[in-house]
Amino acid sequence: NRRKTTSTQDFVTQIVAGNIPFLSRAITLVESTNPKHQQQANEILEACLPHANKSVRIGITGVPGVGKSTFIEAFGKHLTSLGKKVAVLAVDPSSSINKGSILGDKTRMEELVTDKNAFIRPSPSGTSLGGVAQKTRESIILSEAAGFDTIIIETVGVGQSETAVHSMTDFFLLLKLAGAGDELQGIKRGIIEMADAIVINKADSGNEKNAKLAKVEFNRALHLYPAKESGWQPKVLLASALHHQGVDAIYAMIEEYMSLVKKSGYFQQKRNEQNNYWLLETINQQLKNNFYNNPKIKELLQQEIAKLENGKTTPFTAAKRLLENN
Ligand code: GDP
Repeated sequence: NRRKTTSTQDFVTQIVAGNIPFLSRAITLVESTNPKHQQQANEILEACLPHANKSVRIGITGVPGVGKSTFIEAFGKHLTSLGKKVAVLAVDPSSSINKGSILGDKTRMEELVTDKNAFIRPSPSGTSLGGVAQKTRESIILSEAAGFDTIIIETVGVGQSETAVHSMTDFFLLLKLAGAGDELQGIKRGIIEMADAIVINKADSGNEKNAKLAKVEFNRALHLYPAKESGWQPKVLLASALHHQGVDAIYAMIEEYMSLVKKSGYFQQKRNEQNNYWLLETINQQLKNNFYNNPKIKELLQQEIAKLENGKTTPFTAAKRLLENN
């Protein structure tokens, strides 16, 4: 089997040369649960690190139907027309359950898929958000090493996946629709706080006036939040992804942001913080996995649960006993 014999060095050489099939195969290793694959993936990642880090990482979230795919297609085409190389990745821990994985259906980005300067990869599957997010984060490094200078990470607006995407991107963009004047209803406060920009999509076909009103309301709301550590005042923009309108202004805004945070040093500070976060996050996960997969603990856990149900112990005493037996 030819695949098994590809050396780490071959992988790295090909990835750095921009070889997309090798990039895809390396991501498949990253996503594999086979320990041998993981070992090689880690070696490839470490060797790719010096070639990574030179990109802009943009997170995009919004509820299903808001127009994420349409927007990413229009935005991505705009970027490639400027000579950029765009990788589109995703974090969607639900995809393995309900199959309707974002980006899984590539026909949703017909034009971008055939663009030789674009690389689109669906979300890795998995049931734990932490696991899925870690794989996406590693795929960012590989994509950057392969020369992609703009990384777009899509996520659906459910659960904690926005937080995970926020912690691996430089700029976080929230897609919204204009509603009936109650724009702020139903949005989690945390998401507004994370957003560097809110883009009101579908500002077309008679919806322009509502979109403009929504813009005013969001702007007002954003000003109520404390100033961001980045020194950036989050902006609200209008777009019609379907008609490719507004994407140029959105990219210009991101460039403005990048130049601000690079000058101030915040860019590097944030990336360092994100690295530390993922270091600790990975340790936490590994500790948890080791603990719960330990056969001795599995047995003891059953015993303690039985005691708990019979009123023979408290959750705290039981936990203490389990942890001491690790
Ligand atoms: P996603 O679920 O967030 O990825 O949303 P999609 O990109 O699949 O879009 C959902 C629907 O909204 C599709 O029918 C799109 O054609 C439509 N749509 C997306 N963007 C726009 C837009 O700017 N204007 C209009 N009128 N429709 C749009």
